[in-house]
Amino acid sequence: MISSFLDSPALPRPLVSVDEAARIAAVEFGVTGGVTELGSNQDRNFRIDAEDGRYVLKVANPAFDPEELAAQNAALDAARGTGLAVPAVVAAPDGRTVIEVEAGGQRLHVRLLGYVEGTPLTGDGRFGSGTRAALGAAGGALAAALAGLEHPGLARGTQWNLEIAGEVVGLLLPAVPQADRRDAVAAATDAALARLAPLRAALRRQPIHGDLTDDNVVRVGDAAMSGVIDFGDVAESWLVAELAVTCASVLHHNPDQPLAILDTVTAFAAEMPLTEEEADALWPLIVLRTAVLVVSGEQQVTLDGDNDYADINRAAEERAFRVAAAQDPDVMAAVLRRTLGGGEPAPVPAAEAPLLPGLGEAVTVDLSVPSRALGAGLWLSPDADTQIVAAARADGRAALTRWGEHRLTRSRLRSAEAPATLTLGVEVHVSAGQVTAPVGGTVRHAGDALVLGVAGGGELWLTGLADRTTESSIAPGAPLGQARGPLTVQFSRLGGPRPPLFAAPGDGATWRLLCPDPSPLLGVAAAAPEPDPSGALAARDSSFGAVQEHYYADPPQIERGWREHLVDVHGRAYVDLVNNVTSIGHGHPRLVDAVAGQWALLNTNSRFHYGVLAQFTERLASLAPDGLDTVFLVNSGSEAVDLALRLATAATGAPTVLALREAYHGWTLGSDAVSSSLGDNPGALDSRPDWVRLVENPNPYRGRHRGADSAPAYLADLERQLDGMAAEGVRLAGLIAEPIFGNGGGVLLPDGYLRGAFDLVRARGGICIADEVQVGYGRLGDWFWGFEQQGAVPDVITIAKAMGNGHPLGAVITRREIADSLAAEGSLFSSAGGSPVSCVVGLTVLDVLEEEGLQDNARAVGGHLRSELLRLGERHPLIGAVHGHGLYLGVELVRDRASAEPATEEAARVCDELLAEGCIVQPTGDGKNVLKIKPPMCITRESADFFVSALDRVLSRVG
Ligand code: PMP
Repeated sequence: MISSFLDSPALPRPLVSVDEAARIAAVEFGVTGGVTELGSNQDRNFRIDAEDGRYVLKVANPAFDPEELAAQNAALDAARGTGLAVPAVVAAPDGRTVIEVEAGGQRLHVRLLGYVEGTPLTGDGRFGSGTRAALGAAGGALAAALAGLEHPGLARGTQWNLEIAGEVVGLLLPAVPQADRRDAVAAATDAALARLAPLRAALRRQPIHGDLTDDNVVRVGDAAMSGVIDFGDVAESWLVAELAVTCASVLHHNPDQPLAILDTVTAFAAEMPLTEEEADALWPLIVLRTAVLVVSGEQQVTLDGDNDYADINRAAEERAFRVAAAQDPDVMAAVLRRTLGGGEPAPVPAAEAPLLPGLGEAVTVDLSVPSRALGAGLWLSPDADTQIVAAARADGRAALTRWGEHRLTRSRLRSAEAPATLTLGVEVHVSAGQVTAPVGGTVRHAGDALVLGVAGGGELWLTGLADRTTESSIAPGAPLGQARGPLTVQFSRLGGPRPPLFAAPGDGATWRLLCPDPSPLLGVAAAAPEPDPSGALAARDSSFGAVQEHYYADPPQIERGWREHLVDVHGRAYVDLVNNVTSIGHGHPRLVDAVAGQWALLNTNSRFHYGVLAQFTERLASLAPDGLDTVFLVNSGSEAVDLALRLATAATGAPTVLALREAYHGWTLGSDAVSSSLGDNPGALDSRPDWVRLVENPNPYRGRHRGADSAPAYLADLERQLDGMAAEGVRLAGLIAEPIFGNGGGVLLPDGYLRGAFDLVRARGGICIADEVQVGYGRLGDWFWGFEQQGAVPDVITIAKAMGNGHPLGAVITRREIADSLAAEGSLFSSAGGSPVSCVVGLTVLDVLEEEGLQDNARAVGGHLRSELLRLGERHPLIGAVHGHGLYLGVELVRDRASAEPATEEAARVCDELLAEGCIVQPTGDGKNVLKIKPPMCITRESADFFVSALDRVLSRVG
């Protein structure tokens, strides 16, 4: 062995500055240009932007022998045959490719390589199947190309050579500071080594890249991958170790989908077929790789505290290790052997005799996400399944759960990974009964399960049988044992190990094949319909106006809400940070009851006289400032704004309305006219009607005047504008403004702006409208109304969203004389506005807001969330500002804090990646670069913290 990590395990990076790197490149290779340091765990790498192209100067760790560096160059040359882009080996003028230099007081060896253009896959969130397969294919092709390479520098015992993984883990384990983590790594390593021991001699050895991972695979544009870099770990090792390293990287990106590696494995094997022993060795090697990464990450941080590159990776490495260690290695081996072995799947045989008497009359229970039986948060109770089954069996019949169902009761709140919800068996709930073999076969016992191997392959697993048969060969109808309670029935094609009863939705397609629907053996249909979010989306696209967009290119199908959580059809729960409409939270039982009760009693229109209307309008008027005592009830914010505009024109007899630029006020003809948000309508500025005049957006972060004290400057502009309009003879009806810039991402107006603007408008006879549709109703925590934050009092208030918790409800509150001015335009009637059901909704929402102290919660949790987001801003330069107050917040993402250039694409990616982390967030603002944070007001501190840590992880990748 030319060098061994085990002899010199401490490998802090050599000390070489950017200036020294520039000198070495110039002196030794005659290459000059801008120098930037690149990340590396153990070496120093520098990018040089020279006139004739880009290069990488690699300064090797002194622990490595120059022969090893020469071997890497040889491997690069060999790899070029694969068609993948790999770095060119650049020679010095005298032909040398490995050069000894003096730097930082050390003798070091340097090489110059060509730079491979592209972005590493490291920053990507989930890997799609295309990326996973491309990685596997590249690994297979590379392995084939390196197979014939011979070089003395390849016999290396590097830290990453999995042949010595046990020793490496043993050596570095003390670097893990926590005893429980050390124990977990030690136990998983021992178990993996034990499985590997009998296979070692049969594993083929050859030169491998050794680090074909997200860090070292680059892509240009939309390609799944286009090149491979960093051959620093090239060594002679096990061929299958090459694949194991890549699979561990896939696991980093798809931690809740362990079988995602199958795409990689299949593509690798298509290029470089694997033996059965290699298939069996793969999973233990993946476990070892993740263990080596955990201990190495800890050691690197100990050695080299300022190595951010090593530090950022640690959390993801720990997570991948936990997932790898948690899988049943027998199951993984069986899955891999099946995947690589191919062949026809064993058919599920039809029952020739009943499994249990009375199954035909059994009731099927629904434990799926949309199940009506699981309402009011029952699904979160640990015995929810038992309760539902007991209720279904009230008449004494047997009950069946469903195969292929994504069980809501297996969903987990605040989970960064999708939980294993997909049910792979059927539970038969009976009080007692004789269980007989539905088909003939051979019997074996595995723990508490009886396993019936059936002709044609495949096994029927029965768990929960008492008095099990002692026969080993069974005919159809022969007794198998007694059911004395629930019995679990599963059909498995794994051929040996016990199949899991639940699988992660991401692995669903594979598991549906491995553990297919056992209905034919049961003699009754026990499969749940398979959710089809893409089919449902296609149906939506073909029948619903496309301009009514949906969130996300590939949206989850959301079918349930509870408090601040949303749940998709696969039982994945998300923290909902976007639904300010749902002020009191999703699925609020009080609201559900109140609505159902009122619907059953009466729902009609407000020309009839009923009690709840007056109760509601009095209540609303009591919340508004003195003098604003008259209420109109409509069905949406747009209608409320439209009506407010009509009131302003009717009360003043003047046509022209001022509106702040970048605002959104609604979609109706009138409310759209005063909306100029470019995020919603890129052509807005060129298409406003004559009666609308736009006012400069007083955005103290990125507007014409900056800072919280910029109100006087904006007001001076407004005054000039008003004077100009007066000179033109324009007659002013009023001004509409959001008291806090909702659409801009919760940007607070400069202190005192709104009061000053209202004064200027009133002085010219105009009416002042505060659009509180987004920000009002207690969400700001310290104030019920947004205008209170500005010390301003409007003449007209528009509200909607929060007041109905999602029910179509909107209102205008104003002074009596303004309201009465509308009489000149006839009567006003909105068929459903102010209906009894709507009034009950509105009253219940206000009751819940008060009784559950949700405005206080907005103050407390919102304040906490805001300070946590500001703390993130100290570490993530992408965060330019944190806007807003209470639970109306905005995280503005910028490419550069000085220029505040909007980070539009980054914001879109952050939102996509937050979704994978279990958080629903969307961008807003003209630059679509502000993450709007406006969750249901019942959000807990725990959920807020969950979001902050998810955002932290995502920004570490995207930033
Ligand atoms: N005003 C503001 C400030 C809004 O944000 C919105 C909706 N986003 C509206 C009015 C229109 O409300 P609706 O969607 O209920 O018609």
